[in-house]
Amino acid sequence: MAQALTLAIVGRPNVGKSTIFNRIVGERVSIVEDIPGVTRDRIYARGEWLGRSLNVIDTGGLEFNQADFMSQIHMQAEIAMDEADVIIMLTDVRDGVTKTDEMVAKLLRKTDKPVILAVNKADNPEQRADIYDFYRLGLGDPYPLSGSHGLGLGDLLERAFQLAHKEPDLNDDEDLITFSFIGRPNVGKSSLVNAILGEERVIVSDLAGTTRDAVDTFFTYDNRDFAMIDTAGIRKKGKVYEKTEKYAVMRAMRAIERSRVAVLVLNAEEGIQEQDKTIAGYAHEAGKAIIILVNKWDALEKDNHSMKKFTEDIRYQFAFLDYAPILFVSAKTKQRLKQLPELIERVADNHQRRVQSSVLNEVLNQAILINPAPSDKGRKLRVYYLTQVSVGPPTFVAFVNDKELMHFSYERFLSNQIREAFDFEGTPIHMITRERK
Ligand code: GDP
Ligand code: GDP
Repeated sequence: MAQALTLAIVGRPNVGKSTIFNRIVGERVSIVEDIPGVTRDRIYARGEWLGRSLNVIDTGGLEFNQADFMSQIHMQAEIAMDEADVIIMLTDVRDGVTKTDEMVAKLLRKTDKPVILAVNKADNPEQRADIYDFYRLGLGDPYPLSGSHGLGLGDLLERAFQLAHKEPDLNDDEDLITFSFIGRPNVGKSSLVNAILGEERVIVSDLAGTTRDAVDTFFTYDNRDFAMIDTAGIRKKGKVYEKTEKYAVMRAMRAIERSRVAVLVLNAEEGIQEQDKTIAGYAHEAGKAIIILVNKWDALEKDNHSMKKFTEDIRYQFAFLDYAPILFVSAKTKQRLKQLPELIERVADNHQRRVQSSVLNEVLNQAILINPAPSDKGRKLRVYYLTQVSVGPPTFVAFVNDKELMHFSYERFLSNQIREAFDFEGTPIHMITRERK
């Protein structure tokens, strides 16, 4: 499958960035799945256009405390240039070309990534006639838009897809295990990257330059090939915005998109924070394999119960990640770090696991014996058979007599039975119900 196109919208305040962002991603930005405690930032969302998937970043949502207006915009443009495949510079036809627009355009002219100039608030024909003035920004043809009326977006997105460089998707290679460390600033992601690369049996291969921005690191371990995704955060160390939470969330989402396995890093010293849940929620929704890594375990005053207590807290606060294995490590002392590559390998394999229909239906028959399908208003649910339709994440279809009778709790019961029969540790399972007349 082709990788999703990532768009970033840049422009000064009030030109309509969030309006356009919401238009592109539609309803999807509001909770896809109701995970308690998972708050969302409206800075990054996944959308779809004519069957093609795209990610949109509203750089206007990335605010940096203590930075003045000009440096805000400067950083936003810089992030767009780093993170996006195509950049949309947004302006406002009613204000015409402003000094700030000129400054933003000047920054964006430096990138070799495609930039599309869009002129928003062109609500009527007269205003659409005014867009020609915007040629002077030196960014090519201006595209008229009306965020409020939803006009012009089709042409804009069509252009964006045309201009995007076609990057190979690493996940097309089924044998390559792609993973990333995701988490808030300072939890120890870069330290973990370095610690892993320092492991004895990890052999780094020199494939730099073969992927996007050459930010990925390839290595082999036990004859398996791994790609550690998106280590750019490490290369870019020192940027002022690098340690801000919103930037970290955005980076995490980019890395999640590109990985099979997301290794969620928590900081043992600080415990679980809101932002950890936001990041975890995205990985879960994206259907990735997930490992929870509690880092800085060396820094904690421990007794015999510490690990048990921390585990309980994780299970309680990340109830939706009940399938994710937990590993307590230290990037500093390397404690238990040796176990990580094997664990990544295992959950990656589980994420790709296929189960034969015949075996699956034995499990179904057993399940129905333990817990007969429920009835509703005199009608009884019948589950005729189960079949696995895809992997990554494993997705099952249950064929039933009447969809209305299939409740969430019974779906949940069936997926738990599947989990008991086969090793799906570390991967979410998707269950779809279809009617068979
Ligand atoms: P941002 O600061 O760039 O994210 O801008 P917003 O999306 O918050 O929009 C700023 C204001 O412009 C809001 O009051 C919007 O309702 C308004 N707006 C956005 N798009 C359009 C448009 O196409 N036409 C008109 N007339 N107003 C718009
Ligand atoms: P990142 O922002 O998530 O990439 O975090 P860094 O790798 O930059 O680490 C942030 C800080 O935590 C640095 O000062 C590290 O030295 C420290 N650190 C990272 N891992 C550990 C660990 O396992 N134990 C202790 N005690 N400190 C750590």
